[in-house]
Amino acid sequence: MSELAERFETHDPGEKLVAEKIRCDACPVMCYIADGRTGACDRYGNVGGRIVRIDPLTILDHAAETGAAMVPFVAEGEAWDGELVNTGRRFVTAIGAGTTYPDYKPAPFIVSQEVEGVDLVTVVTEGIFSYCGVKVKIDTDRHLGPETAIVRSQGEAIGHVTTGEYGSQMLSLGGVHHLTGGSKAEGRATCDALLDLCNRKPVELSIDGGATIVVEAGKPPVIDGKQEHRMRVGCGSATIGMFATQWRGLVDEVVVVDDHITGVVSEHQAGKVLGWQDTGIKIIGRRSTPGRYFKVSEPGLGWGGTSISDPLSILGDWNAKKGARPGLSLLMVSTTGEQFAYYELDDELKPVEKPFPERLQKSVGLIEDNCEPALCTVLFIGGAGGSLRAGVTENPVNLTRSVQGLKTYVTVGGAPVYVWPGGGITLMVDVTRVPEGAFGYVPTPALVAPIEFTLRRDDYIRLGGYEAEIRSVHDIVAKGGEYLNARRGTGAPGGNPWPPLAQLHRVPANGAG
Ligand code: SF4
Repeated sequence: MSELAERFETHDPGEKLVAEKIRCDACPVMCYIADGRTGACDRYGNVGGRIVRIDPLTILDHAAETGAAMVPFVAEGEAWDGELVNTGRRFVTAIGAGTTYPDYKPAPFIVSQEVEGVDLVTVVTEGIFSYCGVKVKIDTDRHLGPETAIVRSQGEAIGHVTTGEYGSQMLSLGGVHHLTGGSKAEGRATCDALLDLCNRKPVELSIDGGATIVVEAGKPPVIDGKQEHRMRVGCGSATIGMFATQWRGLVDEVVVVDDHITGVVSEHQAGKVLGWQDTGIKIIGRRSTPGRYFKVSEPGLGWGGTSISDPLSILGDWNAKKGARPGLSLLMVSTTGEQFAYYELDDELKPVEKPFPERLQKSVGLIEDNCEPALCTVLFIGGAGGSLRAGVTENPVNLTRSVQGLKTYVTVGGAPVYVWPGGGITLMVDVTRVPEGAFGYVPTPALVAPIEFTLRRDDYIRLGGYEAEIRSVHDIVAKGGEYLNARRGTGAPGGNPWPPLAQLHRVPANGAG
């Protein structure tokens, strides 16, 4: 938030109205705001009788040649003198732009720019997303909770555990039902958690019948107070396949303990191909195919995402007729290589733990080395609805068709998005690619996210765009907009391409549809 905002006291929406208050109409809450104070969302304030967007409009500067991040060309809060230190391409983001509300208003900024001989228009607005949420990927083997279990924040239900992916547990949080369909407390807690997650802050979540986790985009998860370090190299079966040759000749049997698929090298196809001898081992679990076992344990926080702390608990009696013999050596290891133990069978064919031999250190280390760092990934998902689309064109369905037809390129704070096929404009964006602090909220409750639509100017006019509202970047930098806020220039994050000229060049200017 800018220095300007810090001078303001927060508005109490329940306060009695007085004559000098003015109304903010940037969202359906319609706050009346006294001079020197901010509205319920802290994004707009009354400065000398004018409604002002508190945070500055953010303009990204791209290095023309490389797209590398560059040094800010004016510091936040400084007066803008209209001069650019950096002459690279600029991109007016929707961060601090203001909202298209009520729906019939054109977007706050409709920016024209000629790039490599192509006239482009970028329509810029902060969208109010009542239909939105986040998909969270947590790189861990550990069992966080059963699928469909409720995920809570501040004690309120804000989402659920969804189907796991390879090496990761997945959460689906938010959505219109938690935001608007439950109690006020549920809506508020959901909105708070989504806002913090999207702005890359840590959020504590508890899962019914499962773990308590701290999720922060781009950081390792903390599960029941313990930070996760590594993501599994693969399931138990894949680990056997990858490392069978490393163990050949060094040990008689290897078991990779995994909650999903536990692998046994002597029975596995990889071991068979290498000529591994039978060992008479017995795994307590459901045999899927040779050397691959399901359900060796309940899921949990132990070895390989199982609930076990003693790996021997998944073994039955050894069978001498099938190869078991005193002295037979056994390595047991988890899918991340973090847990491992070495045993030899005694005269009764019972495994006895022995000091871990030097000869096996390298292979266990190799498993660990092949594991990537465990991270939390947060994808914002939202649907661009009526007010957003009407702010771009008088005929909103044309925008949808143009996005679906790849004639309009959509970004969130300058970051590329994935637009779902099918109807509407449902998009997903990795929040770590969006400039920090870009997301806001309104107490309806809903999230506010920056969104920009870039397309060829002739296409924009053809699909019913607001031609009279088009302005140059220079004019916007110099004069700002309706909400009178400062402009702030900053380097574009590396890896966020702009503009997508290859795509927009390819598209012939042949109509809106
Ligand atoms: S919540 Fe924010 S955007 Fe909505 S009316 Fe109040 S100050 Fe304006």
